[in-house]
Amino acid sequence: MKPDYDVIVVGAGLAGLTAARQLERSNLRVLVIEARDRVGGRNEEVTLGNDLTLEVGGQWIGANQEKMFALCREFDLKLIPTYNEGDNLLYINGKCKRMGSQRGAIPKLNPFVLLDLYRSIKKIDKLSAQIDLTNPWQHPRAREWDGHTLESWIRQNISTHQAREYFRVVAEAVFATEASDFSFLHFLFYLKSGQDLETLISVEKGAQEYRVAGGTQQISRCLAGSLQTPVLLDSPVTALHQTDEGVTVQTAAQTFTARKVVVSLPPTLAGRLHYDPPLPALRDQLTQRVPAGSVIKVMAIYKEPFWRQAGLTGQAASFEGPVKITFDNSPEDSSYGVLLGFLEGADGRQAAEWTVDQRQQQVLACFARYFGKEALSPLDYLEKDWMAEPYTRGCYGGHFSPGVWTAYGPYLRQPCGHIHWAGAETADIWNGYMEGAVRSGERAAGEISISLKQTKA
Ligand SMILES: Cc1cc2nc3c(=O)[nH]c(=O)nc-3n(C[C@H](O)[C@H](O)[C@H](O)COP(=O)(O)OP(=O)(O)OC[C@H]3O[C@@H](n4cnc5c(N)ncnc54)[C@H](O)[C@@H]3O)c2cc1C
Repeated sequence: MKPDYDVIVVGAGLAGLTAARQLERSNLRVLVIEARDRVGGRNEEVTLGNDLTLEVGGQWIGANQEKMFALCREFDLKLIPTYNEGDNLLYINGKCKRMGSQRGAIPKLNPFVLLDLYRSIKKIDKLSAQIDLTNPWQHPRAREWDGHTLESWIRQNISTHQAREYFRVVAEAVFATEASDFSFLHFLFYLKSGQDLETLISVEKGAQEYRVAGGTQQISRCLAGSLQTPVLLDSPVTALHQTDEGVTVQTAAQTFTARKVVVSLPPTLAGRLHYDPPLPALRDQLTQRVPAGSVIKVMAIYKEPFWRQAGLTGQAASFEGPVKITFDNSPEDSSYGVLLGFLEGADGRQAAEWTVDQRQQQVLACFARYFGKEALSPLDYLEKDWMAEPYTRGCYGGHFSPGVWTAYGPYLRQPCGHIHWAGAETADIWNGYMEGAVRSGERAAGEISISLKQTKA
């Protein structure tokens, strides 16, 4: 019997929608099935009562993220440079230290700490540059590095307390989890995937250089709107049944058949679908071992960006939580001032147990510590706990625990019969980022086009 579609794409985030677009361009009949009542997945805009639109999910693009820049150009979406004028703050030992906001700016720390930091960053960048992004498990020292967490590597290789703390804060800021939660090999892979450490943590020529006016969810809406392919919303996929001919995809209410399927969910969620026959054991075990980070994104809205008058960028990094990283997220016309903060890793997990009022109090106390008492009286407060989202269950992305890359690496992208895998976690370049999601969708679509051509021939 002829299947309903050539390809069904599960998930309408950037990865799924990009895959659908490329498959449709190859003249294939495609259906996208999405669990939520909206497209965009980990990209989401919220409009407040005063018509101010803010992003509660992924928002920045920058550096060499060429696919994301191209999509913004295609859909005529304006880029807004992240506010970066003035000084950044480093909160350490109960005091705020000012430091430059240019790429590579060095905080005023004790010279021993600075030397320790400088040496460690150099060493890490050198090791990271050796990783083969497609097969990180093949490096001759892969097992050694995969046997370490970033935390155990820090303890063995970094001697000063403050330099160690610096790396722990970086781990939380980049991975939304603790340095003790993920493998050192994964850390090296991830840095190279996004170019290097400096690029990942910088605004200037870094991953945080631009915002998209109106928000990044627009990209998914534009992608979905440009498709001939139907995008079925409100339809969580529950099961995939495979035969030699293709796959039957089941939602609570409907059943569809296709020759191929792209699953574009983060690995943990992909592992929660029912597969018949069951997935190969090692693929299933992989999905048990790539947990998502823990993050609550918070914003306080003020009459104006008052910190700018004090010559501050609004960017603070702190050795004390619960908010350790902040940014200025004000609208381009500065009609309001918006301070953005992240509750990440252990801080995020602890804060998830508090009431909204308790969280707001704690968040504002941190903002006030960095930017002064004015921060205690916002006009409004907004937050999003991504751990609580049933169709995401944590952000920014999945991280590889120790031993996972070397034991299960090959199963990350390898198709299982007619089922192909996409999603930011499967990307070799810009893994975990929107750019990686788009690239993964293109890769999965390419695999399927080749495979279907071979079947025809
Ligand atoms: C707070 C936060 C900040 C971030 N900051 C940045 C940033 O500044 N820059 C950056 O580049 N990246 C950032 N990211 C990461 C970025 O958003 C993601 O890497 C990217 O959006 C992932 O896209 P994806 O398509 O791979 O996955 P997703 O966006 O997760 O898409 C998967 C889709 O599958 C759907 N789904 C789940 N289960 C089912 C099911 N059973 N059936 C059908 N559909 C299902 C989901 O609803 C979702 O729409 C951030 C993420 C968060 C949450």
